[in-house]
Amino acid sequence: MTINYRCKKCRSLLFTENEIQPHEPNSNEVSFGYRRRGGGGDCNSVFLKDKLVWMGPCDQNNGKIECPKCHYEVGTYTWSGNQCSCGKWISPAFQIATSKIDKEKPFTFPQHN
Ligand SMILES: [Zn+2]
Ligand SMILES: [Zn+2]
Repeated sequence: MTINYRCKKCRSLLFTENEIQPHEPNSNEVSFGYRRRGGGGDCNSVFLKDKLVWMGPCDQNNGKIECPKCHYEVGTYTWSGNQCSCGKWISPAFQIATSKIDKEKPFTFPQHN
């Protein structure tokens, strides 16, 4: 069972959980100068292990990651690294905002809309 991640706008399959680089939320550092409730912020992004073909050349230090179908901006890449909302530093960062994608859980029924 693999969890698929789709564009929130057009539902194109963007990547699966196998492409995600898991990280431990960094609970020791205060991210962006403020504390989140309960200590250690929630991750509001996922980071991919590597750039994917549909992202294009990614030949700048940083730039947008757009859905290849509808060009909805789902995230950003930064070769020099970027910080997750939990405070963890990831480098290079292929950062996808979880608010801009749909996580397709294996046990949910397909939805028609
Ligand atoms: Zn799309
Ligand atoms: Zn995180």
